[in-house]
Amino acid sequence: MKVHALAAYAPGEPLRPFEYEIGAVSGFDCVIRVQSCGLCHSDIHVVDNDWGGATFPVVPGHEAVGEVVELGPGVTHLKIGDRVGVGWQSGACLGCRDCLRGNEQMCDANQATILHQYGGFGDYMTVDSRFAFPIPDGLASAAAGPLLCAGITVYSGLRHAGMRGGQEIGVIGIGGLGHLAVQFAAKLGNRVTVFTTSPEKAEYAARLGAAEAVIVGRDGSPPQKPSRPLDIIIDTVASGKDYNAYLNCLDSDGVFNLVGIGNDPIPLSVFAFQDKRRRIMGSPIGSRSEMIEMLGLAARYGIVPQIETFAFERANDAVQHVRDNKVRYRAVLLMD
Ligand SMILES: [Zn+2]
Ligand SMILES: [Zn+2]
Repeated sequence: MKVHALAAYAPGEPLRPFEYEIGAVSGFDCVIRVQSCGLCHSDIHVVDNDWGGATFPVVPGHEAVGEVVELGPGVTHLKIGDRVGVGWQSGACLGCRDCLRGNEQMCDANQATILHQYGGFGDYMTVDSRFAFPIPDGLASAAAGPLLCAGITVYSGLRHAGMRGGQEIGVIGIGGLGHLAVQFAAKLGNRVTVFTTSPEKAEYAARLGAAEAVIVGRDGSPPQKPSRPLDIIIDTVASGKDYNAYLNCLDSDGVFNLVGIGNDPIPLSVFAFQDKRRRIMGSPIGSRSEMIEMLGLAARYGIVPQIETFAFERANDAVQHVRDNKVRYRAVLLMD
């Protein structure tokens, strides 16, 4: 089968048509006819080879949703015609300590959809079916895409920071991740405070269920303390802030979780977390079981990303829109 995809042929280049062949499907693999695929900042980081390790041509797309059209002989849990989604991770060893604990996302041998294979910017893609997740009926395909990356990142991050319900949750940044974090936290029964530089985004967050907003400066100056101490802060903006001041917005035993991607050093005062037994942590995407749980909750509680859709042929416009930070709040390519 010939796949008509879009690829960057060298770092930073625009996407151009690229064709490749899918051979006989073996083992646990499945072939998906892609209906829609989100475009995430991480796609652009890989296209630009910011993190190294990209193999060109790069076919981006790790928020793909589509219909199963072919199954390898090992696949028993999916059938032809099922609607499935593929996120950032496309494989793991499934035998190491992390995998056996249900933490496949932390496997040392974990594979990324757009680093180790061709991603979802094409009419078809092949993927290990053990990393293809059935999409619940209540979720539209285009909306489900960003849940597979941004959604799972904030959902798993909130859970591992201890979110249960009835808590005070802070969300730093109202963007692709943050606007989903607000919904997961609020709709699962928590009171949400957002930290944002934009009054418009604060209003939008209120419509999504946030109870309080702290408007912060773009200069990284310390935020005003919210009206109540927070149990959890989830940070979707990786850098440029006064971390000690944010830690001081936490209650005793509060947890600060870094889920935004960044490489800047974090200056921390021991007192900011020691005196009130606070913790600081980070967390990456989520496990397969969390993915299934997250998709189910999103369908049940109507947790969906706000998306801007682009026809597949306009992929480069979508890339530019994301590069310019203009997307509200996730870009999705439509193949159908
Ligand atoms: Zn992503
Ligand atoms: Zn493993």
